[in-house]
Amino acid sequence: MELNGTPIAPGFAAGPLARIVADEHPAPPTGDLGEARGRAAASLGERAHAALNPGHRDVLLAQQAMLLDPEWWDAVQARLESGDPPEVAVQAAGDQFAAALDALDDPYLKARAADVREVAALWLASLAGEVTARTPAGAVVLAGRLAVADVLPGGRAAAAYIVQDGSPTMHAALIAQNLGVPVVVVDSLSLLDSVTDGEEVAVDGDAGRIVVGEARRAAPTLALSAPPGPVPWRGGPRAIEVRANVGSAEEAQSARRAGADGVGLFRTELFFQGRGRVPSRAEQQEEYRRAAAAAGGPVCFRTFDAGGDKPLAGLTLADEENPALGRRGMRLYRDVPEVFREQLEAMRTAAAEGPVEVMFPMVATLDDWNYCRDALDAVGTGARPKAVGVMVEVPSLLFLIPELAALGVQFLSLGTNDLTQYLSAVDRAEADRSHLSPLALARAIAHTCREAAAHGVKLAVCGGLAADPAWAVLLAALGVDELSVPVPRVSAIKGALAKVPAASPPDVLDALTAASDQDFLARLCG
Ligand code: PEP
Ligand code: MG
Repeated sequence: MELNGTPIAPGFAAGPLARIVADEHPAPPTGDLGEARGRAAASLGERAHAALNPGHRDVLLAQQAMLLDPEWWDAVQARLESGDPPEVAVQAAGDQFAAALDALDDPYLKARAADVREVAALWLASLAGEVTARTPAGAVVLAGRLAVADVLPGGRAAAAYIVQDGSPTMHAALIAQNLGVPVVVVDSLSLLDSVTDGEEVAVDGDAGRIVVGEARRAAPTLALSAPPGPVPWRGGPRAIEVRANVGSAEEAQSARRAGADGVGLFRTELFFQGRGRVPSRAEQQEEYRRAAAAAGGPVCFRTFDAGGDKPLAGLTLADEENPALGRRGMRLYRDVPEVFREQLEAMRTAAAEGPVEVMFPMVATLDDWNYCRDALDAVGTGARPKAVGVMVEVPSLLFLIPELAALGVQFLSLGTNDLTQYLSAVDRAEADRSHLSPLALARAIAHTCREAAAHGVKLAVCGGLAADPAWAVLLAALGVDELSVPVPRVSAIKGALAKVPAASPPDVLDALTAASDQDFLARLCG
């Protein structure tokens, strides 16, 4: 089956269809309106924090300001006093503001009405107890309306969207365009009534075409995934691997379908969190073995990084004053050595069957590395992984690379999400990004690249920065060997690297001599 719609964000992608009906049928609201607003505002702040592209961040911060606007709150209170139930009060007051914007002539201001509706939907979702991203990763999402929170990198971004309402100037579409996530608007969602959830759908965001099931294979113009294999780098005689970040064996399979050159970061704590407990060694063994078999390339398993913003019952403390600076990542392992050992056993068993790599999170000292390496070596079962490395996310490691190389570290993977927060002393969840210096971050990365090259250690980047095309080109130009990005971003990042003309890399490197952060970003984004 084939359908035509209006393209509002270009690109090609395919995946299983997932209907999102939350915005059409919100769950019955519970809880307190003010608390729900606070949770929704915090969630927008968190997403703004995750968005290193200043344009995306500004959209989210503008939405957060809208949500916290006292005028809206007062309008909601007035409706509550006149007897409206809370969800009706939020919706009706939002509709009133949106209608006022809709009535304006200026197309830019008109498009802001969509933001108001989106923020109202987020507030209502929060009231119903759901404030997290509502998009299944890797899916083609069918929804009434496209939301900013859905399309951001770092969230559970879908491969593509088919929506009923949307314009190319709405913020969510602008972000999708930047990210290369295709979006097509159809006249009615009922046109896809005969397609069941989970059925494979391809979306061509250039032509506005939607191809379902078998027909996809007959659609020669649809580039459904990136070509497999590292991308030759025009700035020098080398190729860049583009791998995927996943949290399950199923996602490892999607990574292969998307053309990823393997998995650069398997966040095992997400697999733990999915079970709500520490899985047994046998369960882990099965999951890691399946992931290694499905990925179509090496799989880099990160030992569990619980704590901080990823608490896990039974492992992490509930009452830490400053969890991001406390007991998280490998710092937990000495307290739960049997959990660590069982995980390493499961990883080594998977390594006996396929190309498996292992890395450790939150390593901050040489002793930390020695402890992790010794624990891995002490496991008698399975095979030694193909490579063993560490995340570079605590700034102290920037100054320990020669010693790490001498002590057996085979690769480094820059976790730019945490490196950014620790380098700038700005919490990952903090909405105010004005104290963060992208120029300092870029120079810290440049330093890491020089050190890794000088000591013969492979360097990857698996933090959110790698999923931004402008940063990806800079990272490649600096000498990074591998980028690991969310599955839906594989194709866009491979495309961005492949497009770099031979003369471009030195130009990008000029950005590092910028005199200010603004100057740096302007040069980086062209
Ligand atoms: C990072 O810190 O950049 C990273 C990739 O790890 P996480 O986001 O899981 O902390
Ligand atoms: Mg991290």
